Amino acid sequence: MKRNLLTMLMLAGLHGLYAQGPRPAADRIDTKKGPLLVQPVSHASLVLTWNNKTIYVDPSGGPEAYAGLNPPDLVLITDIHGDHCDTKTLAGLNTAKATFVVPQAVADKLTETAKARVVVLPNGDKTEQGGVTIAAVPMYNLPETPDSRHPKGRGNGYVLDLGGKNVYLSGDTEDIPEMRSLKNIDVAFVCMNLPYTMDVDQAAAGVLAFKPKIVYPYHYRGQNGLSDVEAFRKAVDAGKGNVEVRLRNWYPAP
Ligand code: ZN
Repeated sequence: MKRNLLTMLMLAGLHGLYAQGPRPAADRIDTKKGPLLVQPVSHASLVLTWNNKTIYVDPSGGPEAYAGLNPPDLVLITDIHGDHCDTKTLAGLNTAKATFVVPQAVADKLTETAKARVVVLPNGDKTEQGGVTIAAVPMYNLPETPDSRHPKGRGNGYVLDLGGKNVYLSGDTEDIPEMRSLKNIDVAFVCMNLPYTMDVDQAAAGVLAFKPKIVYPYHYRGQNGLSDVEAFRKAVDAGKGNVEVRLRNWYPAP
């Protein structure tokens, strides 16, 4: 009885320390310059914290989804759609000290204030911002047609170098050759939702081609609800590529 009470108190204490409303707890990944914290927010949105830098990726879902988190030093946006470039959420966040790294099509949608602190990165270019190296990589639908939801060249996936750890953010894409040929990716965030990007089998095949050490399925709500990320995990595990699949809740109930 005594032990149960102690366990309960300990659990209550832990809960108090780590509970962040509906957000799942952040993951911690070691780098040469201290820990990288991975905070899922929702859908395509996440917050990375590393070396005293706070990086918001595709902030959306309302400013309240970011309550209690540090304001961003860097905001990365992948594409123009509202689940990536959410001007209402941006307007409600404290982005006073943030640099925006975006493709041109997104820069065109930002406010004049944000435009003053924007770095436009086309596919294939790189920038360094406060010790964070950011490379823009293609993201697009197959087959490549100019009228596709995501034509090649408009949006950016990103590869970040954070203290020697390479982090890939897929944006909205299919398993394009540029994804399949990525090298030395430590942590990958990969989309999987129909009809916007790809299904879980295609995503698993793409991931097994470049074999990141860790992969997080994200951006997995489609027209018919959530994709079967458990099936994605099984397909990746069956490929024996030594890829750790991390399933986190990107769609916490309000
Ligand atoms: Zn999207």
